[in-house]
Amino acid sequence: SWSALDSPLVGRSASVLQRMDHRSVSSVTIPPPACMLRPLEVPMRYLFGPGPSNVPPRVLASGSRPIIGHLHPEMYEIMNDIKKGIQYAFQTENNMTISMSGSGHAAMECAVFNVVEPGESVLVAVNGIWGERVAEIAERMGANVHTMVKAPGGYYTKEEIEQAIEKHKPVLFFLTHGESSAGLCHPVDGIGDICRKHNCLFLVDTVASLGAAPIFMDKQKIDILYTGSQKALNAPPGTAPISFNDRACYKMFNRKTKPISYLFDMTHLSNYWGCDGNTVRAYHHTGPVSGFFALRESLAILAEKGLEESWRKHKEVSAYLYKGLEDLGLKLFIPDRDLRLPSVTTIAIPEGYDWREMLGYIMKHHQMEMTGGLGPSIGMVMRIGLMGYNCEKTNADKALHALADALKNCKKSKA
Ligand code: PMP
Repeated sequence: SWSALDSPLVGRSASVLQRMDHRSVSSVTIPPPACMLRPLEVPMRYLFGPGPSNVPPRVLASGSRPIIGHLHPEMYEIMNDIKKGIQYAFQTENNMTISMSGSGHAAMECAVFNVVEPGESVLVAVNGIWGERVAEIAERMGANVHTMVKAPGGYYTKEEIEQAIEKHKPVLFFLTHGESSAGLCHPVDGIGDICRKHNCLFLVDTVASLGAAPIFMDKQKIDILYTGSQKALNAPPGTAPISFNDRACYKMFNRKTKPISYLFDMTHLSNYWGCDGNTVRAYHHTGPVSGFFALRESLAILAEKGLEESWRKHKEVSAYLYKGLEDLGLKLFIPDRDLRLPSVTTIAIPEGYDWREMLGYIMKHHQMEMTGGLGPSIGMVMRIGLMGYNCEKTNADKALHALADALKNCKKSKA
């Protein structure tokens, strides 16, 4: 075992030790990395995948405003504006409406961590990756997780949901509104009533659908709703709006145990966002100041344009894209047009083609991102996202042109 007497320093004179000591704190042994001496380079790309999406110049500019303190009164005012913008986008009057300092996953974890206690039953509808992810999050925090599983693109009838709720008696039921891995927009009407009847909270993910397809948090009796910033909202990634109604607040503020996460604890976050009725906002964490500026600007654009117009535009441009894809001989993955997610369109991988090669070709020759499947839809689909700022027929034409070029040049037999 190690002993101080074995140290190579034992027996050295005081002055040598002093010199060594001085050297050990002042001399840099790891030089500045060469990459850091080169300027930042960021290519211009068409982000026509499932997100992040291209960000309008106005939103980019808002993120470059001077930093102010996260606890300055001006910042509180900006956060209050964000809260109002989210209430409009979600169509809710919920007071407990905030933005997470983090991506969509932060909102997913915040929802589950705050309303579920270890050992409680949670029911998750899985029809793509997002249900799988929420099931894993709930399992990690010790919930008793039950899943209803369908292949990507599948959806659940109200009868199937009610039967599963009756069987598992969950405190929380999770559904993805815009299943971006499959391109499905799940019907929501009536499910909130079923959840209320069985004393269960209804949690809905709208990361990929908010602003692109209608959602009405209050009218549809959704107890917890969240989204992300980087899709149809067109803000940079890194903030995630979330809202809890009174039923959800009652559950989360009457727990026996503390939530496992300090950062995501709504007792603190509700104070930070001025939602707890307390006039003093205490320090909890340092919010992403520039990210909040950009989120505010993107919500302002949505408010100016109007939700109905945003929904109409996504429907119009996606219909135009479907027609162009079918003209190219491609097959839409979701057969029922009414169930297609207007922000992210999925196509079946064309026979005789390698999807990775096609996507690589499109990136190389058109500087355009489209993506393959995700989780259970890998190898089943290719995904084209035209959201918010990118949701224009001219962009659909660009995407169709790139796909036509890839179809011409990537046929497997030619490789
Ligand atoms: N839910 C859905 C439906 C999504 O599309 C995404 C992002 N692709 C997420 C959740 C996770 O969001 P983030 O990547 O911002 O953490």
